[in-house]
Amino acid sequence: MAFLQLKGVEKYFGDLRAIKGIDLAIERGEFIVFVGPSGCGKSTLLRLIAGLEHIDGGSLMLDGRDITDAPSSKRDLAMVFQSYALYPHMSVYENMSFALKLAKEDPAVIREKVERAAQILNLTPYLQRTPRALSGGQRQRVAIGRAIVRAPKVFLFDEPLSNLDAALRGQTRVEIAKLHRDLGATTIYVTHDQIEAMTLADRIVVLRDGQIEQVGTPLELYDRPANQFVAQFIGSPQ
Ligand code: ADP
Ligand code: MG
Repeated sequence: MAFLQLKGVEKYFGDLRAIKGIDLAIERGEFIVFVGPSGCGKSTLLRLIAGLEHIDGGSLMLDGRDITDAPSSKRDLAMVFQSYALYPHMSVYENMSFALKLAKEDPAVIREKVERAAQILNLTPYLQRTPRALSGGQRQRVAIGRAIVRAPKVFLFDEPLSNLDAALRGQTRVEIAKLHRDLGATTIYVTHDQIEAMTLADRIVVLRDGQIEQVGTPLELYDRPANQFVAQFIGSPQ
């Protein structure tokens, strides 16, 4: 069985069927990107996987365990939010160690994990500063650091670069790709940006109106789009 398996996943908001019977198998270590236009269900699908939304039908298995009804904190996943979700009054160190403190980890172990994450993310010189004193890109790295210290089985990103300017977006994208190479962690990354999708993904999942239009490597989607919608979205001539 795949590392993360979605079967017949459904989500309703009142009468709106936002997610329509999604089946998807993700292998360990894969970098999966969800793309599609605004409102197609990317965030909802990610939030269902994260356990931030209640699932109305279907099942989720992670590493052989049924997590369909598990609370978010028991899923062994970490969601990276946009950098404005940092605690402004806490230092970078405190921001990154917060979840571990809540989990009552040993202070020496916490220090080791935070320092290692800071090293990976080039944040060591900034550990005692508050987010206010950092650039947008550095703040986004702190947000990623908060996820790394928890050593989750899966990283979930929801448009992490959308509030950065174009230059910083490119730079942070390269850093995320490097992070994935270094840690080899299974990652699901949501974006509406084709370039991000094409450069980061092992496989791209194209969503439209709560359903999967196509799943494939960037090259497969580029060379053989399943339909006009995918072709237009990926930007290849057809
Ligand atoms: P995306 O992230 O692809 O832009 P979303 O997952 O946010 O799309 O939304 C998918 C659909 O579900 C949209 O029609 C949206 O309006 C609706 N939706 C999302 N969240 C809620 C909510 N909490 N309550 C009601 N409708 C919602
Ligand atoms: Mg969204």
